[in-house]
Amino acid sequence: MNVIGRFAPSPTGPLHIGNLRTALIAWLCAHQQDGELLLRIEDLDRSNSKPAHEARQIDELEQLGITFGSKAIRQSERFDLYRDIVNGLRQQDLVYPCYCTRREILESTQAPQGPTIEGAYAGTCRNLSVGDRSEREQSGRPPAWRLRTNSETYVVDDLVVGPTTTVIDDMVLLRNDGVPAYNLAVVVDDAAQGVTQIVRGDDLLHGTGRHIHLQKLLGYPTPQYVHVPLVVGLDQERLAKRHGAVTLEELSQRGIGTQEVLGELARSIGSQVVQPESVNDLLDDFNLDRLPRSPWTIPSDWQTVHHDN
Ligand code: GLU
Repeated sequence: MNVIGRFAPSPTGPLHIGNLRTALIAWLCAHQQDGELLLRIEDLDRSNSKPAHEARQIDELEQLGITFGSKAIRQSERFDLYRDIVNGLRQQDLVYPCYCTRREILESTQAPQGPTIEGAYAGTCRNLSVGDRSEREQSGRPPAWRLRTNSETYVVDDLVVGPTTTVIDDMVLLRNDGVPAYNLAVVVDDAAQGVTQIVRGDDLLHGTGRHIHLQKLLGYPTPQYVHVPLVVGLDQERLAKRHGAVTLEELSQRGIGTQEVLGELARSIGSQVVQPESVNDLLDDFNLDRLPRSPWTIPSDWQTVHHDN
């Protein structure tokens, strides 16, 4: 079976070198197996997503030679579909309204026992008495809708990280402002696009059990997961603007062209091809086994050097 991969950026700004590296790995994984890489625009966040960012991101990917198969999806055009799915689950009593504020959730987060996930929901609104529920309804605060779960655990059989156990919680499917949650949209859209392999940053590994749970519930297949180590600055912190030249434009302003960037990215993923001219040059030699299992530190001349006065 040919691999169908996907790259799913959020169009909230230019892509940084970490995003581009993940896209490169995803492209290579798919194309090496005669597959294709599909694009998905994850623009659920309506206030920060901009068409201009989307166009720029596609341009940045093209500069590196990363192009996509035809079945692109834009999440902002699919809100009705996600809401219909939540309504279907509501009719089966698989979701419940949650009135908790962010602060209440943080304060009630259960102490971690065994494998856990960040910000796991303690289940406060799961079994509200009729009285408690109507009191909350009357407060006028609109509810978010959460999935009823039983702290199921799933082993993510990750191609890079290895088998990883993740526990799930009662995840939000529909936020209280009516916006569908990432965890729902990602699962629905991976199935809609026929995705068989998901390459993404390993900061998303801990939440993957949630996705597997939803896939089973909605009758979708579980794709193969490939979580890749993040890109960091010299301080070993996750790459951010303050680290220096972290976008193609910033690098080009320092005289570092796309070809040089591609060469650095190739080295960073364990490629032995010296001075690749295009992503195609990396295909034959690419091997996930050689991808370093620890974060990649960007070259020091890309970084901003802070001098004390
Ligand atoms: N939209 C997410 C991001 O830009 C990626 C989510 C995913 O790959 O599942 O970080």
